[in-house]
Amino acid sequence: MASQSGSGPMRVLVTGGSGLIGKAIEHVVMKDGEKREGEHWIFLSSKDANLMDLEQTRAVFEKHRPTHVIHLAAKVGGLYLHMRENLYFLRDNLRINDNVLQTAHAMGVTKVVSCLSSCIFPDKTTYPIDETMIHNGPPHESNYGYSHAKRMIDVQNRAYFGQYGHRYTAVIPTNVFGPHDNFNEDEGHVLTAIMNKTYKAKRDNTTLNVWGSGKPLRQFIFSMDIGRLMVWVLREYDEVNPIILSVGEEDEVSIQEAVEMIAEALEFKGQIHYDTSLSDGQLKKTANNAKLRRYLPDFTFTPLREGIKLTCDWFVKNYEHART
Ligand code: NAP
Ligand code: GDP
Repeated sequence: MASQSGSGPMRVLVTGGSGLIGKAIEHVVMKDGEKREGEHWIFLSSKDANLMDLEQTRAVFEKHRPTHVIHLAAKVGGLYLHMRENLYFLRDNLRINDNVLQTAHAMGVTKVVSCLSSCIFPDKTTYPIDETMIHNGPPHESNYGYSHAKRMIDVQNRAYFGQYGHRYTAVIPTNVFGPHDNFNEDEGHVLTAIMNKTYKAKRDNTTLNVWGSGKPLRQFIFSMDIGRLMVWVLREYDEVNPIILSVGEEDEVSIQEAVEMIAEALEFKGQIHYDTSLSDGQLKKTANNAKLRRYLPDFTFTPLREGIKLTCDWFVKNYEHART
C-alpha cells in the first residue's frame, strides 16, 4: 500500500510497541491479517531507544525511516502510582512526546497518531465528556502531571498543523485492559491489579482487598478492540482533532461490578473487602463515543465479561512471565 504522501511503501513505527496497546496492535496487524501488501511495521520497546533522550530518538528514527508513527510510549500507571509520582509523569511524558513529535516532523513523517486518555479531561465538568472539552478546566488532582503532559500533545498537534500543515492527531481511549498489561498490584491499573490480587487470594485462601469504595464508574475497553481501532485511525481518520475510542455510555460499570466479573472468571469464592480509607480517584469520567459512531456505526466491541475472561486466562497461563 502506498503511503498517504504517495511517495512509496508505508513504514509504520510503533513506539511503546512492547506494551499493552502495542502488543494488541501487533496481534491485529501480524496475526489477524490486517497487514497489507507493501506495509512494513516496526514495534519498538524502550530497549531499542530511550525516547526521553533526543539523540536516541533521532537514531531510532534514522534507522527505520518511518512514513507513519503510532506513538504509544509513555510512563503509564494506575491511580495510586500517579498520586505518588505526578512530577515524573509530567516530565517523562513531556520529554518523550516532544522528542517523538519533533523528530517525526524533522524527518518528514506523513502521519503520527498519539495517545491521550479520558483521565485528562477536566475534573469539574458536565457529562458525557466529548472531544471538544479537553482544555476546559483543571484535571483531577490525582493525575495532574500525566494529564497536563498528555494535553500538550493536542496543543502540539494543532501547532504542527498550523505552521506546517502536518496531519498529526491523537486518540482518547478510556480504560484499556488485556493481555500483556502491567499486573503489578501497587502500580497497575485497576482490572489487572485486581486480577493479580484475586489470583493470589484464591491461591493463598485469603481475603481479596480492593482499594477504595468500589463505587466509581469506568468504561473499560479490551486491548484488541483498541488495536483494531488504532489501525483504522492510522489509515482512515483524517482529522487533527482527537477522537474518543470507547465503548458507549451504556456500557459504563462500577469498579465493584468489574471486580465481581474478575472473581467469577477466576472462580474466586472468598471474601472481598473494600478499603474505603483509600482514594477513589475520579468518581466518573463518562465519555461519549458519538464521533466514533459517526465514522464506524457497526464496530462491535468485545463484551466486558468476555474481555475479562480472556485476560484472566492469559494471566493464569502466562503467570511466570507476565508483568507483575
Ligand atoms: P504500557 O503497557 O505501560 O506500555 C508502555 C510502553 O511505553 C512500553 O512499550 C514501554 O517500553 C514504552 N516506554 C515507556 N517509557 C519509555 C521510554 N522512556 N522510551 C521508550 N519507550 C518507553 O502502556 P499502554 O497501556 O500500552 O499505553 C500505551 C499508550 O496508551 C500510552 O501513551 C498511554 O498513556 C495510553 N493510554 C493507556 C490507557 C490504559 O488504560 N492502559 C488508557 C488511555 C491511554 P518497555 O516496556 O520496553 O520498557
Ligand atoms: P483511573 O481510571 O485513571 O482512575 O485508573 P485505575 O485503573 O487505577 O482505576 C482506579 C479506580 O479503581 C479507583 O476508583 C480505585 O479506587 C479503584 N481500585 C480498586 N482497587 C484497585 C487497585 O488495586 N489498583 C488500582 N489501580 N485501582 C483500584
